[in-house]
Amino acid sequence: MTGKMKRASSLWLGAASVLALTVQSASAQPPVSKAKAADTSVKPYDPSWGFNMSGMDKTVKPGDNFFEYANGTYLKNIVIPSDRASFGPFVILAETARERVQSILNDAGKHPSTDPKTTEEKLGAFYATLLDTAKADKLGATPLKDDLEAVRAVKDPASLAHLFGQAAFGFQYTPFGLMINADDKDPGQYALQLHQGKLGLPDRDYYLKSDFAAKKKAYQAYIAKTLAMIGWPEADQEAAKIVALETDLAKAQWSRTEMRDPVKAYNPMTVAELARKTPGIDWAEFLVSAGIPREGLENRRIIVGEPTALAGMAKILSTADYGTIRSWLAFHLASNAAPYLSQAFVQSSFDFYDHELEGSPQLPVRWKQAVSHTEDAMGWAIGKIYVERYFPPAAKARITELTQDVKAAFANRLAHNAWMAPATRDAAGRKLQNFEIQVGYPNKWRDYAGLTIKPGDLYGNAARAIAFDWQYNLGHLDKKVDRNEWFMTPQTVNAYNDPNQVEIVFPAAILQPPFFDPKGDAAVNYGAIGGVIGHEMTHSFDDQGRQYDEHGRLHQWWTADDVKRFQALADRYGKQYDAFEVLPGVHLNGKLTMGENIADLGGLTLALDAYHASLHGKPAPVVHGLTGDQRVFLGWAQVWRQKLREDSIRNRAVTDPHSAPEARVNIPMHNIDAWYEAFGVKAGDKLYLSPQDRVKIW
Ligand SMILES: [Zn+2]
Repeated sequence: MTGKMKRASSLWLGAASVLALTVQSASAQPPVSKAKAADTSVKPYDPSWGFNMSGMDKTVKPGDNFFEYANGTYLKNIVIPSDRASFGPFVILAETARERVQSILNDAGKHPSTDPKTTEEKLGAFYATLLDTAKADKLGATPLKDDLEAVRAVKDPASLAHLFGQAAFGFQYTPFGLMINADDKDPGQYALQLHQGKLGLPDRDYYLKSDFAAKKKAYQAYIAKTLAMIGWPEADQEAAKIVALETDLAKAQWSRTEMRDPVKAYNPMTVAELARKTPGIDWAEFLVSAGIPREGLENRRIIVGEPTALAGMAKILSTADYGTIRSWLAFHLASNAAPYLSQAFVQSSFDFYDHELEGSPQLPVRWKQAVSHTEDAMGWAIGKIYVERYFPPAAKARITELTQDVKAAFANRLAHNAWMAPATRDAAGRKLQNFEIQVGYPNKWRDYAGLTIKPGDLYGNAARAIAFDWQYNLGHLDKKVDRNEWFMTPQTVNAYNDPNQVEIVFPAAILQPPFFDPKGDAAVNYGAIGGVIGHEMTHSFDDQGRQYDEHGRLHQWWTADDVKRFQALADRYGKQYDAFEVLPGVHLNGKLTMGENIADLGGLTLALDAYHASLHGKPAPVVHGLTGDQRVFLGWAQVWRQKLREDSIRNRAVTDPHSAPEARVNIPMHNIDAWYEAFGVKAGDKLYLSPQDRVKIW
């Protein structure tokens, strides 16, 4: 598990994150039937002015369930497509982006080369190779041969550490995550970082809590099946041992909530100290194998995320049976590579990760998966063409203007903040002024000249793309951070906040209706994209983001009293989410979702302020019988029109730092006084909170 994404907070758990987590899969299947497609063709918004009133359910009182009132009819009428775990505006835009990328890739493949040299030729060849299922089926498991040989050679701590390091360059597996990211205490500089990595199930709860016993059993069956498919001996017995090993490792790991604490997760040490404090793994061999220079290695600084977890995991691995370890590595290798093998592997991976864990009934058609995998491999090359074709420069200007409005609203809030010490308040104001806002696409593009793509070599192409990406990251070692690098491609329907760079980023693909419609109603736009902008800005002042100062440095710049007062507000707010049931007996985790929840409350508050300021003292126009404030709240609610499958809801309740869509609408709203006035919400209504119970943070 290598990569750049770390503490940057995104707007939602997008398809890309899910793909990365589950190693997505693909196969040729008949296209989804026309009848199913028709069910999802209803636009979640009204293109004539931005808000789709026919999607509301006016039989529900806004004060009883605002999410249902704003979205109920739309949600009742849509059917989640058979190849998806959820549906709504985010997914619709992601599907649109995918179709656009498909057309980019089809064009790139128009003049195929037997020896691709240009980026377009490489894109075309990578995509065409993915579409050739006949060849993949003919090869079966044979592409794994050399990598499986490497797994069979693992027999002692040095060979195990060597293989863990090799995971950075392809499909091999490691339970340790090595990254090169900005240093939290010196954010202008890249630092080497080590974290607990992913096991085969989505979260440690899946191993340790009885709620997930059936999923754990299905995981064991998936392991056995995968081992059998690669001809590994004693597949059933080995699968049981692998699950037992991962259960032990899960016990040693930190929970996602613990991992959210940036101070606890910042443990710089030298590699020599790491070896002393974390015996059982040959760390020097691991790092050298991953491409870290051997010269000066002992004294190289490395920031360890979860030291006690790593120590526990290393100890377990040092006493584990090497036969079990080899089976474990072989399984993960085949499972990681499954999307690039025969359709039997693709289907098997889908059956477990997407059907069993997320509830999706049907494998997406091959071209859709081929687009996703090409994005994984060469996403920035696609992004460059994407913005040339689909991102009008005018949108950039308008969004930049809107972000200034929201920023001004935040500055005003900070200036009038009642609970912060004046010095902290001033520093917070400076932090806001230092904010950089990037829109559409990065100023600099990645160069793919060093990536070798061979027509017909599916497994090799994908492995080389992983290695190419890691080599790029290795190039950052000991260098200064380049602000022109983004964490998300322009065709991603999402946004993020980077605490180290004091920066928020809005990729091109999110700047479309229902988030932003340049011809739409201003109030709806403020509620939607204005809320999203405010959400990302507030991340810099949520329970994590507030710990980074005006220069993106992690250190305590608040007084002890400020912290105490903030914590009291956050705790009260978190309890509202703890109480929220997503399914009978399944609650949100207020601590895991704290940052996102604070950002939702801040985002909506700032959107409303910014809308008011934009009126320059004039009364808000009434549109379609709705007041300005009503349309701001409806604009926010419309963004979260989303339906999820039950398995996906259960999965997200433990893995997703974002709350469920209904909570993202109803909970922030009933803490905002203006919402009560806008919709006449009174005591006795289900969402009613008495004024002293409403939480106001920013
Ligand atoms: Zn967020």
